Amino acid sequence: MTSTAGGEHQALREAVRDLCSRFDGAYWRECDEKRAYPEAFVLALTEAGWLSALIPEAYGGSGLGVTEASVILEEVNHSGGNSGACHAQMYVMGTLLRHGSEAQKRRYLPDIAAGKLRMQSFAVTEPTTGSDTTKLKTVAVRKGDRYVVNGQKVWTSRVQHSDLMLLLARTTPLDQVKKKSEGLSVFLVDLRASIGHGMTVQPIRNMPNHETNEVFFDGLEVPAENLIGVEGQGFRYILDGMNAERILIAAECVGDGHWFTERAVKYASERVVFDRPIGRNQGVQFPIARAHVNVEAADLMRFKAAHLFDAGQPCGAEANMAKLLAADASWEAANACLQTHGGFGFAAEYDIERKFRETRLYQVAPISTNLILAYIGEHVLGIQRTY
Ligand SMILES: Cc1cc2nc3c(=O)[nH]c(=O)nc-3n(C[C@H](O)[C@H](O)[C@H](O)COP(=O)(O)OP(=O)(O)OC[C@H]3O[C@@H](n4cnc5c(N)ncnc54)[C@H](O)[C@@H]3O)c2cc1C
Repeated sequence: MTSTAGGEHQALREAVRDLCSRFDGAYWRECDEKRAYPEAFVLALTEAGWLSALIPEAYGGSGLGVTEASVILEEVNHSGGNSGACHAQMYVMGTLLRHGSEAQKRRYLPDIAAGKLRMQSFAVTEPTTGSDTTKLKTVAVRKGDRYVVNGQKVWTSRVQHSDLMLLLARTTPLDQVKKKSEGLSVFLVDLRASIGHGMTVQPIRNMPNHETNEVFFDGLEVPAENLIGVEGQGFRYILDGMNAERILIAAECVGDGHWFTERAVKYASERVVFDRPIGRNQGVQFPIARAHVNVEAADLMRFKAAHLFDAGQPCGAEANMAKLLAADASWEAANACLQTHGGFGFAAEYDIERKFRETRLYQVAPISTNLILAYIGEHVLGIQRTY
């Protein structure tokens, strides 16, 4: 079963599927059991060039759009894998591409495209301020030719398997800016020079096998040349990148949704109880059919958002709606699939409980469903802000 919305990318889909077929359920299960990073998979995806899809050809990448990048991640999840191990390189790329200096791009992009460097970590969320990003407390103070960073982040993913990290920190105190979104800046942190030198990393064991961490900054020095764009404008740069992030995550959820419904269809057709396939019962069949309908509908919104993004058009409403619809649809499909499998759905060897845990994340991260609804209510429908 393939998406009806994305039929025009068949060659790309087949190439990614071909690669993913080398990393089957047993591979992902073993990583999950050992809480290991899927290094061999990420390496294969990097070597095949798929993770540098968004890097322009002039810097050694393939210069594809967010539409194609989203198809790559969708196929990873549709194959039973988990793009969460490496998706951030795609969704943080825009910040460097759009706001980085030519010198920064020349210094890092060719090596990222060649697979010599990984830029797949993104430190925004903090333990005491959560979704209220502009109140974050990590500070970066300019001292000569460097910034000195103090503070703490939480849920900073893939730090242990990345060379570079984007950091959002406050450079002007909140009480000295006109708007709270001002005075925040983005830095490119070279993790190789930072961990153990003012930056410590504390892994967080979590529900899916997601490499994510608490990060502490205690006098970390970041060269001033690693500031991205203009000091104080970083929140705007991060917001710019969020539409891409929403679209890419929506595509992963669509991939998950198809994986769940396909598994459910197969099992419903094969499992015989009371002398007939369980799928002949409407109580089993209809939840699967409904989940499929919702995955397909979410997919249309994902492609609408992706096409607008690639055309340089505003797409905040569509990107947010796509993320919400797709995360809901994949979660609905996960539940239908688990229920269809009865007790066997809970057995690790079926991979359903693993994928169930993995797709559940997208109700909360990288933005929670409530915050999307608040965005739609306020910015799309024009109702008063609820918070
Ligand atoms: C596995 C994992 C990986 C992650 N990776 C990263 C990463 O790489 N980098 C990074 O920066 N962050 C990362 N995050 C953090 C993620 O983006 C946040 O968890 C998410 O944005 C929610 O923030 P919070 O957890 O602080 O929840 P809170 O902001 O504390 O919210 C808690 C709950 O209250 C609800 N809520 C809060 N305010 C309102 C309101 N005004 N109206 C209605 N409901 C509200 C929220 O919807 C949520 O359900 C990750 C999180 C997880 C779990």
